[in-house]
Amino acid sequence: MIRFENVHKSYGNHEVLKGIDANISKGEVVCLIGPSGSGKSTLLRCVNGLEDYQKGRITIDGDLIDAKASSISALRTRVSMVFQRFNLFPHRTALENVMEGPVHVLKQNTAEVRDRAADLLRRVGLAEKMQAYPSSLSGGQQQRVAIARALAMQPEAILFDEPTSALDPEMVGEVLSVMRELAEQNMTMLVVTHEIQFAREVADSVLFLADGHIVEQGPAAEVLRNPTHERTQDFLRRVT
Ligand code: ATP
Ligand code: MG
Repeated sequence: MIRFENVHKSYGNHEVLKGIDANISKGEVVCLIGPSGSGKSTLLRCVNGLEDYQKGRITIDGDLIDAKASSISALRTRVSMVFQRFNLFPHRTALENVMEGPVHVLKQNTAEVRDRAADLLRRVGLAEKMQAYPSSLSGGQQQRVAIARALAMQPEAILFDEPTSALDPEMVGEVLSVMRELAEQNMTMLVVTHEIQFAREVADSVLFLADGHIVEQGPAAEVLRNPTHERTQDFLRRVT
């Protein structure tokens, strides 16, 4: 469903992605792991058209992602992104945050969107917090609002960029459990994470990115238990 073919990306003359080939099938959960600075966020941002790339192709169901094309805003609505920092609108309630995209970007009917947004907030365990402002919510609650907001766009896939790494440890579990439920409901997910345990339990496959290349990819159990490349072995020794 999301396909990378020989994707190259540079910032100035610093080449960050040096020919990425990968494929994410519909309903698949893929965890992207790798050292800091290896280009994981950059890769996600390219999928969402937030960044341009110089060579190769990224396609969603065959449609080319081109950050410069006029069609990019339509394509961007097909893939939602959840960031490390929740990026909620501070002056809007949880419910209003979830409604924002469907009402203002997709121009959907406000009453219908409100019902759906309320359902989504219930689904992420925030039935009691619909009218709360982000500043009165914990980090874990804010991140669950952000996930509800991503779902409200009815995306074909969701990209997560280290969704738990800004959270206090006691909040991590509640966010991972919402993500686990999404995975069980066959949402297509590309997740940058350092939560190797989550990857082991939830991911179908794992991509290990280092030095601009996908050094290793395959079924999560294989890559995480028996990595074949020294770089992967070193990395996993350090994070687990
Ligand atoms: P982390 O695990 O720390 O989040 P990452 O794997 O997500 O790292 P990226 O943020 O994608 O790494 O960055 C990859 C490389 O690209 C780094 O060397 C970074 O300094 C560089 N980089 C990222 N964004 C920009 C930018 N906007 N302009 C110039 N260089 C950038
Ligand atoms: Mg990053």
